[in-house]
Parts: sequence; structure tokens; C-alpha cells
Amino acid sequence: MIKFVDKTEHKTINMRAKIVAGNWKMNNDLDESKSLVKKIAKSIKKQPLENTRVIVAPTYVSLQKVASKAKGTKVEVAAQNMHFEKSGAFTGEISATMLKSVGVHIVILGHSERREYFGETDALLAKKVDAALANKMEIIFCFGEVLADRKAGNHFKVVESQIKNGLFHLEAGAWKNIILAYEPVWAIGTGETASPEQAQEMHAFIRKIVADKYGNDVAENVSVLYGGSVKPSNAREIFSKPDVDGGLIGGAALNIDDFKAIIEAI
Ligand code: PEP
Repeated sequence: MIKFVDKTEHKTINMRAKIVAGNWKMNNDLDESKSLVKKIAKSIKKQPLENTRVIVAPTYVSLQKVASKAKGTKVEVAAQNMHFEKSGAFTGEISATMLKSVGVHIVILGHSERREYFGETDALLAKKVDAALANKMEIIFCFGEVLADRKAGNHFKVVESQIKNGLFHLEAGAWKNIILAYEPVWAIGTGETASPEQAQEMHAFIRKIVADKYGNDVAENVSVLYGGSVKPSNAREIFSKPDVDGGLIGGAALNIDDFKAIIEAI
């Protein structure tokens, strides 16, 4: 986050970070992951990414190697999920301390695929949020309505309850480690994108509910990403909206040319 003083208004203005994050999901083996992160790092090496962050989230098996390849570059590395416990009899799970031990300090929580296919509830996510923050990790917290909610006009209510249940138990100070990602489920991997106006409308609503709870300072400083079929052809228009601070990218993050074009769009 960059702070500067607007001399004309004599007040401090905060500029929240712009972020392009690639969620690789269950794609790319180790060699493919290493090769992709290398290409991304190379492609943005000379780009002046002022106040802009580029993050990739590979699978667990590739995390350590990708994190070490990304070290010293402009690419940051996130995990796609984690368990809330530190260790124990939780077959197949990974803890925050394990992620940190391989150099990963960012985690995606609440992705709709975790909610839908793995039964992750708001209550479980609140525990994961606490565990991540207790370990000083940064969180990309995802939420969004399904098509039936949008059709019924319930999308604001659904998003509000996901954010409240997952995050509103936090102290204001914790929000410096939170990145929000609005991902309408009907737009994920479907090729159908929310219109820039729909995204802006929801992002402004999200910022308002955060402001109502925590005040303007927290709300103005939290980055709110849009996710759902972002591609080179629509990225620029979506990112041009004032409350859209970047994107969480799925399919298009697997292709270097597309991902590079999306970074350029921001
Ligand atoms: C995602 O899974 O977070 C996502 C936005 O996927 P896609 O870009 O493929 O819709």
C-alpha cells in the first residue's frame, strides 16, 4: 500500500494495490509449473509494475519449487487452500506453518470450488482465516453468488453474508492482510463474464459494507478483485472500473500470452 499526501486537499490518500492473481487450480505438473512461473517472471521483469502485484497459485506439489523460482522476481506465490489446524491427523491437508516453511505467505480461501465440491462453509472459512492471520499470512478471500441467487435478486444478500460470516469477526487491523475476490459462480470457467457495470456495482457494494463495519480507511485500502472468465479481451474494461482493483484469473492464467496481456491491461 502506498501513502501519499494530496497537497491540494491537505489530506492523506491511500492507494490500494492493484493485483493480478492466477489460480492454477489442479493444472500444471512440476515441470509445467516451473516453466510457467519462469515465463511470467521474465515477461514482467522490465514492466514498471507500480503499486501492482502479480501472484500465482500453483498446486501443493509445485509450491516449493515455484516459490524458490519466484524469489527475487516480481512474482509472488500463493497456496490455493490450507487447513486451520497446525498439525495432526488430517490426512491430505496442509497447514499454515507448512506453507510458510516453503516460502509461501499468501493463501486463497473460500474459492467457490472449495465451497461447492469440498463442502467448505462460512464457519469453517472463518477458522481458516483466523489460522492464516495468526501465522501472519495474507489471505485472498473469495465469495460470490450462484446463478439462481442472481436471478432471484439475492446476490447482494448472499455476498454480504459470506463476507460477514467469514471476516467480520476480525479487528480492523487484520484487514491489512485481507484481499477480497468477488467471483460470481456463474462466471467461473463458463466463458460468461459479469459486465463491467455488474462488477462495479457489486464491488462498490462490498466496499460500502466494509466501510459501514470498519470505516472508510479500511474500506478504501482493501483491494477487491474480480474473478470469472477474465481474459485479454475483457480485462481492460473490467479493470477500468473504480472499485475493481484487479482480477483473480483461472483459465487464462495458464497461458503465458493471455496472462501477460491481462497484467498489461491493469
Ligand atoms: C477462478 O477460478 O478463480 C476463476 C476466476 O476462473 P476463470 O477465470 O477460469 O473463470
